[in-house]
Amino acid sequence: MSKKKNKNPAISDNLTRSTAYIWKSRLSWRIIGAVFFTILFVQVAILILTIKQEENKLLAEIRETGRSAIASVINPRVGAFQSPISDISANRVLGSTIVNGFSVYSTDYLLLKSYGEAATITMMDRDGLSKTYRSDNGGSYEVVFRPDDLRKSYIVVARLNSEKVGDLVLEYVKETMIIMLLLSLFVTTVLMIALGHWLLEPILFMRDNLILARQNPENPKIPKSPYANTDEIGATIEMAQTLINQNAENMQQVRSAAEDKIHKLAYFDQLTGLPNRTLFAQKLTEAAFTEDASKAKKFAIVTLDLDHFKDINDSMGHSVGDAILRGVAKRLRSKIDAEAVVARAGEDEFAVTMPLNDEFKTANDLGAYVANLIRDKEFVVYNESFQVRSSIGVATFPDDGEDPNTVLKNADIALNRAKEEGRDRICEYTEDFDRAVQQRFKMLRDLRDALENDDLTVFFQPQFDLKSGKIIGAEALIRWFKKDKSKAGGSYISPAEFIPIAEQSGLIVPIGDWVLKEACKTAKGWHDKGQEIRIAVNVSGAQFYQSNLVKNTQEVIKAFDIRPNLIELEVTESVFMDDISIAVDTLKGLHELGVELAIDDFGTGYSSLAYLRQFNIDRLKIDQSFIRNALNNPDDAAITRTIISLGHSLNLQVIAEGVETKDHETFLLAEGCDEVQGFRYCKPIPKDEFWQFVTDYNGSLDSFDNE
Ligand code: C2E
Ligand code: MG
Ligand code: MG
Repeated sequence: MSKKKNKNPAISDNLTRSTAYIWKSRLSWRIIGAVFFTILFVQVAILILTIKQEENKLLAEIRETGRSAIASVINPRVGAFQSPISDISANRVLGSTIVNGFSVYSTDYLLLKSYGEAATITMMDRDGLSKTYRSDNGGSYEVVFRPDDLRKSYIVVARLNSEKVGDLVLEYVKETMIIMLLLSLFVTTVLMIALGHWLLEPILFMRDNLILARQNPENPKIPKSPYANTDEIGATIEMAQTLINQNAENMQQVRSAAEDKIHKLAYFDQLTGLPNRTLFAQKLTEAAFTEDASKAKKFAIVTLDLDHFKDINDSMGHSVGDAILRGVAKRLRSKIDAEAVVARAGEDEFAVTMPLNDEFKTANDLGAYVANLIRDKEFVVYNESFQVRSSIGVATFPDDGEDPNTVLKNADIALNRAKEEGRDRICEYTEDFDRAVQQRFKMLRDLRDALENDDLTVFFQPQFDLKSGKIIGAEALIRWFKKDKSKAGGSYISPAEFIPIAEQSGLIVPIGDWVLKEACKTAKGWHDKGQEIRIAVNVSGAQFYQSNLVKNTQEVIKAFDIRPNLIELEVTESVFMDDISIAVDTLKGLHELGVELAIDDFGTGYSSLAYLRQFNIDRLKIDQSFIRNALNNPDDAAITRTIISLGHSLNLQVIAEGVETKDHETFLLAEGCDEVQGFRYCKPIPKDEFWQFVTDYNGSLDSFDNE
């Protein structure tokens, strides 16, 4: 592993650390252990093999010493059968050398004489000539010197002192062991340094790289590799670094793609590709405030809402609705100045803004232009033509607000006004709108307080059987006694004024719950006093869809322990228009509870025979406007007549409300109407007064003739 020169201090610092790591790394220690013990093992094996040689060498030395000592004292000039060594010479040899004893034989193996310690080996024949013998304790070593060894014609068996051989061998082992140990250490160290340098350091460097990559995969600050890619490790590091960098790049790309997507989702409408409300407000702010003060441009802000778009969506399906929205977007974008910002501001709401110019001198001009763009040409979807109209609100920046967002909000207020005024029109923002909105907000706050502070009450208006004159029911009508500083301490506010606000804000749900409870409580009270008077409670659309009306009604009826048919729920036809299947289900659930059901203000909505048959209702309540005019408007009389016969054909009871005069009553009696309610008999009155009315009533409708 060759290292490229690296002058980067961070990297060399890194490497110093790597070197330090080497001595801490487990792998290093494993390699050290393996290398050290392998070398040691090999050396010990060699030692074991050489011990014998060493011993043999020492014994050979002893043998040679013994041989030369004995050979030197042999005197060959003696007679046959005589020892060639004199006793004096023999004693000298025995006393001063390692020879402890010896026997001299003739070449015929005849023992001539023995000296000193007796040897174990005896020469009987030629077979013993090469024998040696070592005593068990190693103290003596017996050898045979042949005539060749002695260069004399005698054979000598000598017993030599070999006591020191053991110690010398031990000494040899010790010395060798120390040398081996040192050698092992040296080899291991050298190997480690080499391995550390070529293998461990790069591996640790790569590990550090991977750690950095894991910590910050998108932007791993990995140092440049100091290792050349000419060997396996260097090439591996290079590959790992390439992968890390590729991964980082991929992640960056994925992130920036995701950011783009989020940006698109956050600022653009997916269906039309137009900017959404957020981006619209941003662009408007940018355009309005980056303008050079000297140019001081004014901006028109136009918001538009497609009229009855929901009906198209519901009746023709969402794909048609979507196609129309795309068509509107395309038309607006292509026909309005490129300088303008066109946005989709809500489901079927669009917004346009551009600086006023010679063509559009006022915001209203732009509004009118936009309205015509939508209205003038039909939208064709799947070969069907759709005539689309729009309600438009316009406002001008900076005349109608200090900041673009306020102006946009004011254009929305104007748009709402255009919708309230019957749609298909342009409404320009004026401050009065704002005031009206503020007043509505205030009323909502006050209403919320009124609900909490028990300032709401329920009045009751009697309902009669037209033929018998019997009181058969009462309608519960909410009243809000709004306290003020006047003499009377306050005044009643008409539900017509506050119910729509309560409906828009959702406050109608708790209010409706409360009215239902009051009605049940009252019905129970009257029942206990001996009168069964059914109480009709008005239920608004919001209650129908927002709260669990069936469950709630069941609980309240159960809580007050009243017969379910003492309660009647009145709903208007408009409620059924929102979602017919929910309406059918809810009415079915209520019917199963046993409560009575009536359709209020019948005849004013989208009266349709088709749905009447599906609903489990008991009663149609003819709207008071028909009754009011029945006597002087033949149309209203005809409608009244039709509703009565329609109701009867469906086996429903028909009640007329708003009966104010004897003539109304006579007309209704003649047409076969079943029940009546109106000022002719009694206005809505508080609970106690109602009870008084019931007690005082003589049972005949004629008793009201003189009133
Ligand atoms: P509605 O349910 O059609 O109630 C009948 C309205 O006609 C009542 O007005 C009643 O006072 C009035 N009225 C009765 N007889 C005559 C008459 O002979 N001539 C005239 N000119 N008017 C008569 P009110 O109490 O002002 O209620 C107005 C509307 O407010 C109600 O119309 C109903 O839609 C709503 N409302 C009242 N109380 C509640 C309630 O508790 N919940 C809900 N959701 N709506 C309620
Ligand atoms: Mg009613
Ligand atoms: Mg009504």
